[in-house]
Amino acid sequence: MSASLQQRSLAAVWHPCTQMKHHETLPPVPVVSGEGPWLITENGQRLLDGISSWWVNLFGHCNPRINAALRDQLERLEHAMLAGFTHSPVVELSERLAALTDGALGHAFYASDGASATEIALKMSFHTWRNRGLPQKNRYLCLEDSYHGETIGALAVTDVALFQEAYAPLVRQADTVPSPDARRAASGESAAGCARRAVEALAALLAAEGERIAAFILEPLVQGAAGMAMYDPEYLRLARALCDRYQVHLICDEIAVGCGRTGTFFAHEQAGIRPDLLCLSKGLSGGYLPLSVVLCRDEIFRAFYDDDVRRGFLHSHSYTGNPLACRAALATLDIFDEDNVLAANRERAALLGRLLAETFSARAAVRHLRQRGMIAAFDIEEAPGDFARRFFAAALDAGALLRPLGNTVYFMPPYVMNEPELRALTQAAAYALDRALA
Ligand SMILES: *Cc1c(COP(=O)(O)O)cnc(C)c1O
Repeated sequence: MSASLQQRSLAAVWHPCTQMKHHETLPPVPVVSGEGPWLITENGQRLLDGISSWWVNLFGHCNPRINAALRDQLERLEHAMLAGFTHSPVVELSERLAALTDGALGHAFYASDGASATEIALKMSFHTWRNRGLPQKNRYLCLEDSYHGETIGALAVTDVALFQEAYAPLVRQADTVPSPDARRAASGESAAGCARRAVEALAALLAAEGERIAAFILEPLVQGAAGMAMYDPEYLRLARALCDRYQVHLICDEIAVGCGRTGTFFAHEQAGIRPDLLCLSKGLSGGYLPLSVVLCRDEIFRAFYDDDVRRGFLHSHSYTGNPLACRAALATLDIFDEDNVLAANRERAALLGRLLAETFSARAAVRHLRQRGMIAAFDIEEAPGDFARRFFAAALDAGALLRPLGNTVYFMPPYVMNEPELRALTQAAAYALDRALA
C-alpha cells in the first residue's frame, strides 16, 4: 500500500509552529479543497474554518470573484521585478491603500509576509532618524506579550517567551511597557481607566529614554498572538500624543487586526489617530497569496529622497509587489466596497456575540468572554497543560477548525459565515470544550 499524504507530509515537510513529535498522536489534516468557510479533507470531511486559516482568509476559500481576478491577471503578467519597473496592480493597490488612510500614509513598500513588514517598519524608522542626523534613536519599544513576527529582527519586538527564549542571544531585545489588556483592570476600573494606568509607564520610559528611541510598535486594539488581549482605544490616543511629544514613530502592526477585522477597516481608526508607519499582511490578499505592505507618511518618505544612494531605502525582496498578489488584494478591496462588508459584519459580529454569550457565559470554567468586531475569545481557568491540543482535536471531530492559544479559545471566522454556520461553529466549540476539559 502506498504511503498516505499524512505519512509523506511527516517524512518530508517540516510544519510551522509545531513540535513535530506531537504529530505521532495527531497527524496533519490533509486538505484537498475549499469552498466558502469550509475546508474539505481527503476523506470528504467538511470543516468550518473558524479561524480563517490563521487569520488570513476574509471572503472564504475559492472565492469566485478573487479567482476570476487572478485568472485575468495570470493571462497578462505573473511577475515582474519592481526595481526599475512598475505595473498597474501595484500602482492601483498603493493608491487605494493610501486613500483608505485619507492620504495620511501616502507611500507603500511591499514584501511577502508579516515579519518582513515588521522588519521594514523598524529599519525605515531608524533610517529616517539617521538621515535626519539623529542616529542615536536606534532602540524600539513594544508592549508586553507583543507579537510582531519571528524572524530575528522581528523577534526583538516579540515578547513571547515560547518563541523568543531559545534565540535570546541572537536578538537585540526592545524595551517593553505594560500591556493595556482590559483583563488587567482593577475591580471597578473601566477599560479606559486600565489603559490610562498602563500609559503611565510608557510616559515615564519616553521621558527618560525618548532620545534613544526610534519607534513604538503595537497591535492596535487586540494583541492577537498574546491570546486576543483586547484594550481600550484610549491607549492609542495617549500613546500617539506621547510619541509626538518625544519624536518617536508610532508603528501600528495591523497584520492581524487590519482589513476590517475589528469593525473598522483599520483598527487605529477607532482611536481617531493615524500611525507614522502601518504594517498590513494576512487578510490583505484575501488569504490567497503572500503579500505584506508598510504604509508610511510622506515626511518619512522625504527623509530618504536624495541624490545619495546610501540615504535611500535599499531594502528589497525578490517578489516585492508581485502582480498576482496585488490583484488578489485589489479584488479583496472590491468586495469590501461592493458588498458593504463593514456594515454586514456589524450584524454578523453581533450574532456571533449572542451565540457565544448563550453558549458559554454561564459555563463555570469560562472567563473574560470578550469581542471586538470579528474577533471573539474567552479564557479557560485551570485548563490542563495540553488543553489547546485536546480542544483542537475534539473540534476537528465536531467538524470545525478552532485552535486555542494556550488557555484562550478564540473565534476569527471569515466574513462569509452565515447564521447556520456560526451556530454550527459555536456548537462544535461547546463539544470541544466538554471533551478538552473531561
Ligand atoms: C501573523 C503576524 C505577524 C507575522 O506575520 P507572518 O506573515 O506570519 O510573518 C506579525 N504581526 C502580527 C500582529 C501578526 O498577527
